[in-house]
Amino acid sequence: MDFTVLTLFPEIFEPFIGTGMMRKAVEDGIISASAVNIRDYAEGRHRVCDDKPYGGGCGMVMKPEPTAAAIRAARELHPESKTVLMTPQGRPFTQAAAAELATLPGLIFVCGRYEGVDERIYRDFIDDEISMGDYVLTGGELPAMTIIDAVMRLLPGVLGGEESAEKDSFSGHLLEHAHYTRPFAFEGAEVPEILLSGDHGKIERWRTETALKRTFLKRPDLLLDRAASREEKEILKKWCLELGKIIKA
Ligand code: SAH
Repeated sequence: MDFTVLTLFPEIFEPFIGTGMMRKAVEDGIISASAVNIRDYAEGRHRVCDDKPYGGGCGMVMKPEPTAAAIRAARELHPESKTVLMTPQGRPFTQAAAAELATLPGLIFVCGRYEGVDERIYRDFIDDEISMGDYVLTGGELPAMTIIDAVMRLLPGVLGGEESAEKDSFSGHLLEHAHYTRPFAFEGAEVPEILLSGDHGKIERWRTETALKRTFLKRPDLLLDRAASREEKEILKKWCLELGKIIKA
């Protein structure tokens, strides 16, 4: 899968592309990633990329011509890729959106700065608008990195075992279960004995129960989004019985 980022600050992407899983995925040929400077597509000696807003007001607006030229050039290189604008006004990014984007051959990200890009870029140059959340950042670079990171780790061959992405929080609408590693005892807290039992059936059930418990306590909204599995229903019933006893006592 190809990731091309159009930005006024391509240097931000150098350590990101050259580190950890990203670097390995590039070396393994699973992805290609590059950051392109929109300024390279600006005309004139000063290669100006921003200008004052029509109608007055504060802040600057990214000029349409350099952004459009950068998008055209990226599309020529990657005709199959979808062009995504980073904007707080776009659809919210979720794990489901990451899974959907991971099926595509490539993505071209357009990162805004200042007050954003000229409105005329939206109509003919953008296939999708994505937001990182209901807050405003100074640029689209961090959102683009976040999306690349979330999408890349879903691609076959990137994570060690492919099932590790399937069990992550949000993949199955539950937050993931608790994790423990050595040492057995840490500052007075011990690893739950069941994880040392070697009984995989029991361990799986314990994991489902801790996943359900933390989802119920931290993000109950996720449980309302879908029907619970038979195993989850059994666990919930067991809790109801236990809670009933506590209430009666
Ligand atoms: N004036 C704009 C915000 C501009 S912020 C508005 O009120 O809608 C500058 C740039 O940062 C945006 O063009 C966008 O590319 C990026 N950006 C800021 N917040 C973002 C968010 N929540 N999600 C995605 N991109 C964001």
